Amino acid sequence: MSEKPNDGPERTRLQRLLDTLKAQDITDKKLLHALEYTPRDLFVPELFLDRSWEDSAIPINCGQTISQPYIVALMTQALKLEGRHRVLEIGTGSGYQTAVLSRLARYVYTIERYRSLMVEAEIRHKRLMLENIIYRFGDGWEGWPEQAPFDRILVTAALPEVPTPLLAQLKPKGIMVGPLGKGSTQRLMRYVKLQGDDFLKEDLGEVRFVPLIAGVAREN
Ligand code: SAH
Repeated sequence: MSEKPNDGPERTRLQRLLDTLKAQDITDKKLLHALEYTPRDLFVPELFLDRSWEDSAIPINCGQTISQPYIVALMTQALKLEGRHRVLEIGTGSGYQTAVLSRLARYVYTIERYRSLMVEAEIRHKRLMLENIIYRFGDGWEGWPEQAPFDRILVTAALPEVPTPLLAQLKPKGIMVGPLGKGSTQRLMRYVKLQGDDFLKEDLGEVRFVPLIAGVAREN
C-alpha cells in the first residue's frame, strides 16, 4: 500500500503542494499521509506531467479532468472517513481521488460512464497495489443499489439537481459530498443523513466541476 514518493525535485514539489494544502485548513493527518503516498504524476497525461504537483485541475482523456489537489483534499476531509467505511464514488475519472479514498476506507465502490477511463484507472490502482476498489461501468446517478447502503458517498461531477437516488443509498448518519448546480460553477454540498429522510445540509463553497451526464458514454 505504500509506494514511497519520489526523491529529489519531485519530493520538493510534493512537499510544497502539501504545505499549500495545510495552509488552507487541510489538517487531517491520515489524509495528508494518503496524499503523500499517492503519486499524482501516475494519474496525469504525459503531456502535462510537469504540472503533476501544481495545485490545479488538469485535462485527462475523454474531455474530463483530474481534480485540483486542494479540492480532492477538501472533499475527502469533509467526508470524515473512518477505516471501516464502505464508500461509493461517482466519477472515477483518472482514479486519483479513488486512490486517496482507498487508503482511508475499507472498500471503495467507484462508477464511471467512460469505459476507457475506468480501465486506465484500474491499471494505475493495480500498479499501486490498491486492492480494495470495486469498479462499475455505468451511470452513477442511479448509485449502486446492490451494494447499498454506504457509509459515505462522494460525487466528483456536477449534479444538476439534488440526487435523491444517491441520498437514499446512505446509511443513517451517513455523509454525502458533491458539487450541486447546472452552471459553470457549482456549490460544494455536504448532506448528513439524520432520522428517516431528514438531512443536515451544508454549503462548503464554490467549486468548478465537469457536469454529471446521464447514461454511459459511447466510445470508438
Ligand atoms: N475524481 C476524478 C474526477 C474526474 S472528472 C479525478 O480525480 O480524476 C468527473 C468524472 O465523472 C468524469 O470522468 C466523467 O466521465 C464522470 N461522470 C460524469 N457523469 C457520470 C455519470 N452519470 N456516471 C458516472 N460517471 C460520470
